[in-house]
Amino acid sequence: IAPVSDWSRLVRDVPDFPKAGIVFKDITPVLADAAAFAGAMAQMAAPWRGAPPDAVAGIESRGFILGAALAHALGCGFVPVRKPGKLPARTLAQDYALEYGSDRLEVHVDALPPGARVLVVDDVLATGGTLRAATALLRRQGADVVGADVLVELAFLRGRERWDDPAPLRAAKLL
Ligand code: 5GP
Repeated sequence: IAPVSDWSRLVRDVPDFPKAGIVFKDITPVLADAAAFAGAMAQMAAPWRGAPPDAVAGIESRGFILGAALAHALGCGFVPVRKPGKLPARTLAQDYALEYGSDRLEVHVDALPPGARVLVVDDVLATGGTLRAATALLRRQGADVVGADVLVELAFLRGRERWDDPAPLRAAKLL
């Protein structure tokens, strides 16, 4: 069984995905390995053990996997933050800029009670635009965003330097 700190060795570089010139960090081998997945989740859960949030909000779709596992580990609820048109009930939407064009995230208007302490989770921080949109959306929904946590932060994209959100940003691993 691999030690807790070894999970990040299983993050795999996939060249030219989703398009030529991009080297995609593939976290699926971490999820597939029981010890690595457990180690990664233990590391993400540790800082919150003393004062767990009321809920974890996971960003579609890899943020669902990590966020739901983290919520379960911390004994709190889970809220999906989704791509447009996927949530069935009334939603709030947040648009955000991409390198070319824009994208949108949605959450149910009644996903959390006002003032609920929510931790936002995604798999990878690249530029930070997605995570930033999710924290803004949840704040508009009425939540108190107590943190923004990712499994992997891509250092070379310098997303942390541009992180102007009041919620503290934490990464389990800097790659
Ligand atoms: P950002 O908005 O920070 O530029 O991009 C982060 C979003 O794109 C996250 O939702 C993340 O899942 C996805 N993403 C961007 N680059 C990668 C990557 O190399 N690996 C993975 N697994 N996701 C990525």
